[in-house]
Amino acid sequence: MSKLKLLTAALLGCLAVSALANEGDRAFVGAIIIDGTGAAPLSNGVVVISDGRIRAIGAQDDVEIPAGADVIDVSGRTIIPGLINAHGHVGGTLGLEGGHYTRDNLQRQLSLYARYGITTVVSLGGDGAEGLALRNEQNNSDLTRSRLFVAGDVITGNSEQQIRDRVNAVADSGVDYIKVRVDDNLGNSQKMSQALFSALVDQAHSRRLPVAVHLFYQDDARFVLDQGADLIAHSIRDEDVDSDFVNQLAQSGVCYIPTLTREVSTFVYESEPDFFGDPFFLQEVDDDILATLREPARQQRVRNSASAQAYKAALQVAMRNVAALHEAGIPIAMGTDSGPPARFQGYFEHLELSMMVESGMSPAAVIQSATGVAAQCAGLTDLGTLEPGNWGDLVILEENPLAAIENTHSIESVWIAGNRVPTP
Ligand SMILES: [Zn+2]
Repeated sequence: MSKLKLLTAALLGCLAVSALANEGDRAFVGAIIIDGTGAAPLSNGVVVISDGRIRAIGAQDDVEIPAGADVIDVSGRTIIPGLINAHGHVGGTLGLEGGHYTRDNLQRQLSLYARYGITTVVSLGGDGAEGLALRNEQNNSDLTRSRLFVAGDVITGNSEQQIRDRVNAVADSGVDYIKVRVDDNLGNSQKMSQALFSALVDQAHSRRLPVAVHLFYQDDARFVLDQGADLIAHSIRDEDVDSDFVNQLAQSGVCYIPTLTREVSTFVYESEPDFFGDPFFLQEVDDDILATLREPARQQRVRNSASAQAYKAALQVAMRNVAALHEAGIPIAMGTDSGPPARFQGYFEHLELSMMVESGMSPAAVIQSATGVAAQCAGLTDLGTLEPGNWGDLVILEENPLAAIENTHSIESVWIAGNRVPTP
């Protein structure tokens, strides 16, 4: 390298360092802070983010704000960690249609989740190369869309060899989880056999990947836990959980993702849902989608659908089970199964939070379930809580959600890696 080039490189290096020192530090000062660990909220707190990650957090007197930091006065507001959806699907839906999996659509949906304060989405199935690429690109301090983690294709197969081959192929693609369905769709399809499921778990674990299981029935939950499943990705909805099962789940340490709004989506369009009058919903939804969901003939079909009505009844069971499992100390991770048509990304996560409270959890427990607990359940080690070293993903609210969970709608701004998420 010539002397000139060396000098230029050295100068650029200095510029880069000073630019980071000045532009990379951001301090949010004066808010109530709920850090996602379950600790009591901090009043008059400070969060300092440097180069995308949390550098310090604490009471105003205890935290030193770096010289030259961009100081943002957030007094009177509440800061929560960016919310994590532990079960979503990203990239496939456009309007009310599936089959539109593209990089553009993924980015559009990750930006939508971000504007709603859902700063991380665990996509449990239907993920292709474009999703994996976006997952690989997100470890940088310029990020302004939601983080994505992926399961790839849901594993299916008719023989043990096919199952093991599919697990290997999906593992080779670089996924974060293996996803499988153990369900007969209310008796309308063939359930994966126990032998095949056992082979799947064995193969996934040999690839060091956790297995997330879609299920419906309590007996299937007993079986999959017995076989070493790592994540229950939906509510048990056929019957109330019994004490044997609660003990088994507690001993396994496995997390439970209720996806209550998944049930809602199956029947709620039988008439006009209340949320069609909610500005927080309407600000992001297309008029054509609303018009389609309001069509009387379409509503009639939902009213006449046996499965819609069965899932409506199943929701009541699911809500009782959330309460019972939470009471028993089971880690409950917020997840919605949003993403498929008419399961509205962003808005449904807030609806889920409300329904978890309606089921019997406190607002504090629900916030934790959507932050620190969701991160722990999904194996995300530097997300979910506002602690030094973690990514600076947070939501600033006008009102405190511990007073009423619907206050999560009062979003003032959303920040990912310390960058403000743009609003259109
Ligand atoms: Zn799903």
